[in-house]
Amino acid sequence: MLPSKTKVGIIGGGQLGKMLIEAGQPWNINYTILEIANAPAAAIANQHIVGELSDRSKIFELANECDVITYEIEHINIEALKALETNGKRIIPSPKILEIIQDKGLQKLFFQHHGIPTTDFELVENASEWKDKLLKLKGEKVAAKLRKGGYDGKGVELVDKKTMLDFTDKIPFNAPVVLEEFVENATELAVIVCRNERGEISTFPTVEMQFDAKANLVEFLLSPANISSRIDEKAKRMAMDAILKLEGIGLFAVEMFLDKHENIFVNEIAPRPHNSGHHTIEACYTSQYEQLNRILLNMPMGSTHLIKPAAMLNLLGFDGIYGTYEITGLDKILAIEGVFVHLYNKAETKPKRKMGHITILGDTIEAVKQKAGLVKEYLGMKQL
Ligand code: ADP
Repeated sequence: MLPSKTKVGIIGGGQLGKMLIEAGQPWNINYTILEIANAPAAAIANQHIVGELSDRSKIFELANECDVITYEIEHINIEALKALETNGKRIIPSPKILEIIQDKGLQKLFFQHHGIPTTDFELVENASEWKDKLLKLKGEKVAAKLRKGGYDGKGVELVDKKTMLDFTDKIPFNAPVVLEEFVENATELAVIVCRNERGEISTFPTVEMQFDAKANLVEFLLSPANISSRIDEKAKRMAMDAILKLEGIGLFAVEMFLDKHENIFVNEIAPRPHNSGHHTIEACYTSQYEQLNRILLNMPMGSTHLIKPAAMLNLLGFDGIYGTYEITGLDKILAIEGVFVHLYNKAETKPKRKMGHITILGDTIEAVKQKAGLVKEYLGMKQL
């Protein structure tokens, strides 16, 4: 089928959906999004079904109009998708995989049962179970993660074990949670794996993420990662192995921790384009978004080769600014060679909300870091 004849349905219309659509425009792919009004992708989608991502009837309506369905967010109605898949609808990735990933507890159990290295963990149903389970975990700190519903660091608390044992009123969640061992001084790596129905599998170059400790959000990303080729190969092998064990078709971001003894642990998998792959739009022959389009259309996969070293900065809502806003400094930022600004078209800001991103290319990673420093210095946000 010609790309322009394929109708793609996207559940969710945020920035990931917007960039997926942008990547499909050269091929005139026809997109329908399901999203509440005023989402970033709404202005460029061919059709827009206005509705909640949990609404079974809206998901069925989307499926009726499209040849293939994908999603750009995890918190959607899986039961509806499973019913559609059973009736032969192409849904990429399969909702069976989303069902595992949507629940951080099931995801950890999957890793454990399939020999995918991950940090040791315990599952609790409520706050009263914390004490016994905490005592089974090593180390002074623990990462506590709500099993369902968290995103972008929300629903994750990095806590001190002794404090939790001594002051039970400080336990942050009274709900089903994964308690996992904390990796001290971890380097955070991500590998995006792509696999199509033809059985082709490949990865994008490994990236290194630097986090904003306060917001638990990626604020800075570098590719290539500053790791040896041995670690790089190991990370890519582990990421591909995890996707093969999931029998995944689609595009998946595998987030990992590298500790100081060179152990690598899989943290979590996102079954969709990912923040750690935004730079691929300019930095790689094929972007993560084009690659997903190729998979959705059952076309051959493109080369994921990195053309130039790159950094990516998330443009996050500034502290203290709420509602209407203006981004400042772009006149200076856009004058720098190899700088690409993406704005997500969100009408309102709030602190740490993802409002856009900036990709920076250079001949060496040092040159990239130097330019990234300038971009950070110039970037501002003004309350309107
Ligand atoms: P989310 O799904 O909200 O992105 P993550 O599981 O990625 O949640 O956790 C958010 C951040 O918290 C991670 O990127 C990392 O910086 C930190 N973190 C989470 N788990 C651990 C851990 N076991 N050891 C060290 N840091 C962790």
